[in-house]
Amino acid sequence: MADWQLGEIEVTSILEQVAEFMTLEEFFDGFTPEMFEANKDWLLPNVVSPASGKIILPIQSYLVRTRHHTILIDTCVGCHKKFKWVPEWNDRRDDTYLRNLKAAGVDPAEIDYVFCTHLHVDHCGWNTQLEDGRFVPTFPNAKYIFSEPEYAAAAETNSIVFRESVLPVMEAKQAELVAMDFALDDNISLSPTPGHTAGHVAVEMASNGVLGAMSGDLMHSPLQCLYPALCPTVDLDPAMASATRQKFLEDHADRDKIVMTAHFPLPSVGRVVSQGDAFRFDYLET
Ligand SMILES: [Zn+2]
Repeated sequence: MADWQLGEIEVTSILEQVAEFMTLEEFFDGFTPEMFEANKDWLLPNVVSPASGKIILPIQSYLVRTRHHTILIDTCVGCHKKFKWVPEWNDRRDDTYLRNLKAAGVDPAEIDYVFCTHLHVDHCGWNTQLEDGRFVPTFPNAKYIFSEPEYAAAAETNSIVFRESVLPVMEAKQAELVAMDFALDDNISLSPTPGHTAGHVAVEMASNGVLGAMSGDLMHSPLQCLYPALCPTVDLDPAMASATRQKFLEDHADRDKIVMTAHFPLPSVGRVVSQGDAFRFDYLET
C-alpha cells in the first residue's frame, strides 16, 4: 500500500531515522528569539524538541512506482559511512532503511532508477553499501541519475562522501550524468533548484493531470515557508538558495500540487498555501 497516490504513480516514504540535529540558532543564519516566540505554538514539539531546543529532522527516501519504473528519490545516510560532523550519521550499523524498503514490497534488485536531488551525505548514503571491504552499489540493477553540475562539484571536492557513496557508482558504470532539466519520461523529470548545492534539482512527477514534486533540500523546515529568506548555514550560496526557495514557493502556492519534502516533520508531505506576504505548509495525511 502506497502512502500517497498521484494519478497512477504510487509514492511511499522509506524512513531511515528521525534525529535531533542542532538548535534553530545554529541551523539557520539570522534566526532570532523573536521568530521562535512568534511561532513556538506550532514549532513545539514536532519541529523543535522541547527538551533540547534542537530541530528534529526525519531522513527518508521516497519510493516512486510508476507503470514503467520503480524509483528511489534520495537514499538517506547509509551504513559504515564516515561523517564525523554529525554523530547520528557517522559509521551507522542499522539496516532499518533496507527493512523498511522490503516492508514496502521492494527488493533492492528491483529498483530501476535512483535519483539524487543532490550529493550530501543524507541524500546519497545508501547509494552504496560495504561488501567484502569495499563500497559497491546497493541497487545492482539501477541506473543512478545525478545532475551533471552536482556530480562535477562533488568530484571536485573529492570528499569522503563522494568517495564512499558516489564514485563507486560511477566505477560500476551505473551512473548517468544528466542536465538539470532532464526528463525520464512523461511521469518523471527534474527541475533546476540550485543554491543549497550547485547542481541541486527537484524531482517532478505527473500522472493523469495530478502533479507532485520532491523538493530535496531547497528547504529544510516549514519555518522557511514563513521566512523564505531564512538560510541554513549549510546552503552553499545563500542568495541563490533564497531566490530558488522564494520562486518554488510562489510556483507551488495554492495549487493542487503535492510537495514531498526531505526533512519537514513527518508525514513531510503537503501543499504550499499563501499566507500574508509568505506561505505555510499544510500537511497531507497518509
Ligand atoms: Zn538533507
